[in-house]
Amino acid sequence: MAGKNRLGDILVSRNLINQQDLELALKEQKEKGGFLGQILVNKGLVSSTDISRALQQLSSQITEISEFGQMLVSERTISEEQLNKALERQKSTKQGLDDILVELGWVTAQQIAQTFSRYLDIPFINLSEYDIKIEILQLLPENIIRRYQIIPVKLEQNTLYVATADPLNLIALDEIRLIAKYKISPMIATCKEILGIIERYFNLQQMTKQMLSDIRLDKATDENSISRFVDTIIQAGVNSRASDIHLEPQYPEMRARFRIDGILHDIITIPKSVEASLISRVKVLADMDITEHRRPQDGHVSLKLNEKEYDLRVASTSTIAGEKIVIRILDKTGMLLGLNELGLSAEDQKVFASLISRPYGIILVTGPTGSGKTTTLYAVLSQLDTLSKNIITIEDPVEYKLEGINQVQVNPLAEITFATGLRSMLRQDPDIIMVGEIRDLETATIAIHAALTGHLVLSTLHTNDAPSAITRMIDMGVEPFLVSSSLIGVVAQRLVRIICPECKEEFTPDQKQIKELGLEGRKEKISFYRGKGCQYCMQTTYRGRSGVFEIMKVSDKIRDLILQKQPASKIRDVAISEGMALLKDAAVNKVIHGITTAEEIKRVIFTLET
Ligand SMILES: [Zn+2]
Repeated sequence: MAGKNRLGDILVSRNLINQQDLELALKEQKEKGGFLGQILVNKGLVSSTDISRALQQLSSQITEISEFGQMLVSERTISEEQLNKALERQKSTKQGLDDILVELGWVTAQQIAQTFSRYLDIPFINLSEYDIKIEILQLLPENIIRRYQIIPVKLEQNTLYVATADPLNLIALDEIRLIAKYKISPMIATCKEILGIIERYFNLQQMTKQMLSDIRLDKATDENSISRFVDTIIQAGVNSRASDIHLEPQYPEMRARFRIDGILHDIITIPKSVEASLISRVKVLADMDITEHRRPQDGHVSLKLNEKEYDLRVASTSTIAGEKIVIRILDKTGMLLGLNELGLSAEDQKVFASLISRPYGIILVTGPTGSGKTTTLYAVLSQLDTLSKNIITIEDPVEYKLEGINQVQVNPLAEITFATGLRSMLRQDPDIIMVGEIRDLETATIAIHAALTGHLVLSTLHTNDAPSAITRMIDMGVEPFLVSSSLIGVVAQRLVRIICPECKEEFTPDQKQIKELGLEGRKEKISFYRGKGCQYCMQTTYRGRSGVFEIMKVSDKIRDLILQKQPASKIRDVAISEGMALLKDAAVNKVIHGITTAEEIKRVIFTLET
């Protein structure tokens, strides 16, 4: 609780309050929570200006004197040596210590904010994981939120909690208190996250307001306005990289929420009066029955936005408050890539091209759900000669219609499974077959027979690395000699986020980061890259994703190992000796080449190992 005393001590030392006042205020803070400075102001003991000056003194200690730095050292966030270097640099640059440490890449803005939070005894809030209710955001006018970069986050018993990167700006907090007419309690967030929220919520809000006033003003153009409004919502979803848009009828108003990077965010509320026409418009777009309100329906629509094709899957369900719509946004151009756009290294591209030019055999793409396997298979299919070759796919579901290719959808009701579909496909005289996934022995057996009778077969499996695909098939019950004679290659893959090109910067990693990636043996200087956060990436520092690959060609040596039922580890060793790069190494390469960050590959790839 040192933070409380720091501010309190300054006030006492300046004779603004006495020790007894301080203790009473601290007691109140303990009971009711809140910010000590505000409690003292509320009690009429000091003015906001006094608090502001005291906090300024405190903040100069934080950034100029090494006390804050010592705190980072004692919490083992940085080393003593790093602190000294930063302090040395501060002498010439006159920047704040926090800025210098972030710039040098030794700490993240989030770590600074968290330490800051402990130092001042003001709680920290991770805004990217916090769903702020729209009605809370509306407690402050937009111009105030933008001017002070302060976000209202929750209201509890007459206290409005606000997120700010600068809790020492008491003038701002005081003004907000007067406007909102609540007690204000600050919480610390990073500047980047605050700007991200402002970007995400207010742009759409402004547009919504404009649209809704149009709708009310001119009844005659209602239909046009509604359709423009729907376009605006979808456009905003696309702009904020949402994977899903939820349109939820609720009382008293409808609300729209976006799922961004896996988390649902409240975006706008929509008056009940436009709800019915809004839902109808979406259903018309998606070719759904607008007279049917109870039965759940699915629809789909292709849209061109910002010169890009998007596929929208629309699903409706009836809830007690009305019909709810979920729009899933699939990025068509992101889905249909050429082989050279997947993120393969030049060497891997050659290996891949040689595999798919083979007349027959099985190629497997492996990885967990969401690792980009389908995108890779589509890239392969689009590369193949669709005019002179008969290409048939069986998928669950068919994600995109590919030109010149016969696609069949798995449909248990019509008794089309991967196995039965594949069997009937073989009677269609195909050259190349794509099977969405091999899940069972029956499908595996038919796929192998197809490969052995002169077809090129492409499919996917759920395994973590390439060599394990072999042991997985044998575990399914496939005879080793069938695997060894049909399998020609396995491609394991993951997706990592690409650093935003607009705000990308280079930095020198420290020894710990170098060691984590196994790069300590290198003689040459190593640079890493990271995003700073900008408008283009909505302050997320990333934009788009790239594949990381481990490609194993099944050689004569590996074929022998399969026949001998050798474990995956043995097969892996031989594959490495024959030139296969492990997923991990391919990922580290992407860090060195500045495509992604060390954090990202640790999140996506290293966690899956061991
Ligand atoms: Zn950026």
